[in-house]
Amino acid sequence: MNCAAIKALKEEEYILLMHCSHCGICCEKTEMMLSNMDIEQLEGMGYDKRKFVRYDRYGFARLKNRYGVCVFYDAEKCRCKVYEIRPVGCRIYPVIYSEREGIVVDTLCPLQNTISKREIKREGKKLIKLLWRIDSEALAR
Ligand code: SF4
Repeated sequence: MNCAAIKALKEEEYILLMHCSHCGICCEKTEMMLSNMDIEQLEGMGYDKRKFVRYDRYGFARLKNRYGVCVFYDAEKCRCKVYEIRPVGCRIYPVIYSEREGIVVDTLCPLQNTISKREIKREGKKLIKLLWRIDSEALAR
């Protein structure tokens, strides 16, 4: 389906069209924030926390980045190695929080125009909850 065809659909109709194309743009240079639950889930699958978590100076846990991409990104296959159990922030993406604008869709995502207002609102609520949790976990460290 081309862009014109997508635009021709009503918002409700293309609500389900936001499927990741695995372009990997969002996995480059990212250091996605992690909740304790994200970390536990990845550890539960056998990944060593020391290899994928970096704590920044504010106590936030972040995904490590190696050679400009997330440690879980397989550049050869253009795939996230942990896609099924990827962190919640990665699931919510391309909905992000901007300090200036609040909940927005990241303009880096090539599929940014396929996400409906309803979806942005729904994912935005999840994101706010996630950020509250991550904030309180960082404060407790
Ligand atoms: S965990 Fe997966 S989806 Fe999230 S940034 Fe890393 S490679 Fe991308």
